[in-house]
Amino acid sequence: MEIAVIGTGYVGLVTGGCLSELGNNVTCIDIDEDKVATLKQGISPIYEDGLTELLQKNIENGNLHFTTDYKTGLSDKSLVYIAVGTPQGEDGSADLTYINTACESIARDLANDVVIVTKSTVPVGTNEYIKDKIETNLEKNITVKIASNPEFLRQGSAVHDTFNADRIVIGSDDEEALQTLEKANADFNLPIVKTDLRSAEMIKYASNAFLATKISFINEMANLSEKIGANIDHVAKGMGMDARIGNAFLNAGIGYGGSCFPKDTRAIISIGKDAAYDMPILENVVESNDRQRGILVDKILERYETIKGKKVAVLGLAFKPNTDDMREAPSILVTEKLLVEGAIVNAYDPVASDNAKKILPEQINYTSSIEEAVEDADITIILTEWKEIKAFPLEHYKKHMTNAVIFDGRNCFELEGAAGSGVEYHSIGRPTVN
Ligand code: NAD
Repeated sequence: MEIAVIGTGYVGLVTGGCLSELGNNVTCIDIDEDKVATLKQGISPIYEDGLTELLQKNIENGNLHFTTDYKTGLSDKSLVYIAVGTPQGEDGSADLTYINTACESIARDLANDVVIVTKSTVPVGTNEYIKDKIETNLEKNITVKIASNPEFLRQGSAVHDTFNADRIVIGSDDEEALQTLEKANADFNLPIVKTDLRSAEMIKYASNAFLATKISFINEMANLSEKIGANIDHVAKGMGMDARIGNAFLNAGIGYGGSCFPKDTRAIISIGKDAAYDMPILENVVESNDRQRGILVDKILERYETIKGKKVAVLGLAFKPNTDDMREAPSILVTEKLLVEGAIVNAYDPVASDNAKKILPEQINYTSSIEEAVEDADITIILTEWKEIKAFPLEHYKKHMTNAVIFDGRNCFELEGAAGSGVEYHSIGRPTVN
């Protein structure tokens, strides 16, 4: 099929790459000239496992193209995906600025009938708005159909997830648009959920809100376990074996971050407000997660009278492993708090340091290895469970640090191994061991 994808971020680039891998002729359009220039050379501006290889292969075989020019990008395309960002607005609702601009550009440069497919996460009713906005701005006599195809990929395994998704959701109120989208997705060979426009939009928010709730729920159970002498590892295992609960997303930690859960939970609360419906569960999920992000620094301040002048190594800055994405990463709040308390902060992340430098406080010293970060440190804080960080033996902390005290926000180490390692090991929802 002839396909255009608007927006080459985590979602658009992976969507475009994967659709080209299936043999479609795909043109990705982005307004960011530097990004497009980099992509034309087959270089991915984001870190995603397997993405560079996928892009290079399909650029070379002529299936994948990049442009900043809508007219070129939309020419002869029958399917146009919208995958621009929908960040959080000031009042918590989704900011549709990028969607609006994309719609105006589509309307200006579209020359043939199309099905517009929204991949971006948008509030319920937005797809109808998109269709209306494009149609009212169109100068030519063109038929525009609209469908919703919300994205469920996880950053860090986005390419794998696209080819192995649990389901593909396609929603439209137009039978022909649904058929076109079904055809476009047929070669993924994955279960397809067909529904109407509004239900498709709602599935995305309801899914993310549920996952965020599950994370906050287990975090609260962890905090309580710690206070009453239980171990969250055992609690989560015992809970997760119940098929009605399931064992996924039961890892206690310092809270969710990233570009989706924080903004999508706030957006669905805002959607509820617009519909005059309060959502007390989700309001408290947001509050619970905000509190959770500060929990490690609270623990440190309970353990020490002051951390003024102490050397603190922060391991892991990205909001989760295998990504360079720093959006809403817990490291933002943690490093700010440490600096306010007067600590000297060394930070290490295998891939996110360049992005971190753009948003974290200037006073942070970035290192190029774990060893360098923890050398002579008084305290180590683990914020992202990178494989490399999980594999760094506890004994090495003892060797490098002035005082081997670890506060692990991701429960990277088994308690059995930590006990007797010579490290004072604090984690989430489990007893402290020495
Ligand atoms: P992103 O910020 O990484 O990328 C957005 C891209 O759109 C940027 O490259 C930007 O330059 C481009 N853009 C903005 N306005 C444009 C315009 N008018 N024309 C062309 N390009 C334009 O965003 P993302 O993380 O890929 O997310 C995109 C959407 O997908 C959001 O709605 C998000 O909520 C949703 N989503 C994201 C994920 C994820 O893991 N990142 C997962 C599921 C859904």
